[in-house]
Amino acid sequence: MLRCDLHVHTNFSRDGESSVEDILERAERNGLDAIAIVDHDTVEGSLYALKKRSNVLVIPGIEVSTRQGHLLVLGITEVIPAGMDFFETVRVAREKGGLLILPHPYHQWRHGVAIKLKTAIDAVDAVESFNSRYIVGSANKKAGRKAKFFGKPCVAGSDAHNARFVGYGVTLIDAEKNVSSILSAIRQAKTEPTGKMTPLRSYTRQSLKNTKRKIIRRVHKR
Ligand SMILES: [Zn+2]
Ligand SMILES: [Zn+2]
Repeated sequence: MLRCDLHVHTNFSRDGESSVEDILERAERNGLDAIAIVDHDTVEGSLYALKKRSNVLVIPGIEVSTRQGHLLVLGITEVIPAGMDFFETVRVAREKGGLLILPHPYHQWRHGVAIKLKTAIDAVDAVESFNSRYIVGSANKKAGRKAKFFGKPCVAGSDAHNARFVGYGVTLIDAEKNVSSILSAIRQAKTEPTGKMTPLRSYTRQSLKNTKRKIIRRVHKR
């Protein structure tokens, strides 16, 4: 079984705090076989990470901000524009051959998709049933139950925005250690989500920092 964190942000994300190098080093130290780099609305972090020599396999990807919420697309190295309708984004991502994961479906306030959940789950390949950054832990259980109900594979990711938390969400995957084998194993539900929650303290500190940044940006815009 491979140990994979399928949801990691680098400092190529507007709110990521750690370099690709630090993240890969931490991932290796934590015994991960693969990580998916899914920065917000950019593939630059993925492209950069793919060039690095590491024992940890890099799965390239992106976390797209659709009009109705976030969507993870794995296995692509081309950007998908932000701000499109969720289903239009799904169409474009499929055209590019990406694997689609619905992240943190119960995180409305943090961009969980604001459309009927069944419709969103139907449109993707897998559901993130463990995200280490939920403040209410039961949201993961709810997501897992929904995914099972609609017959979708379940995956886990840390959603780490700092190298310290890489590996807090781990999907055990029955696959060979290469991107196409991992993606097809996810499609076949050969996955087992596990993980531990990101400590609330650090998460709150980060949220505060982001909020402060947003306020500063707003003030500058005036
Ligand atoms: Zn997200
Ligand atoms: Zn994320």
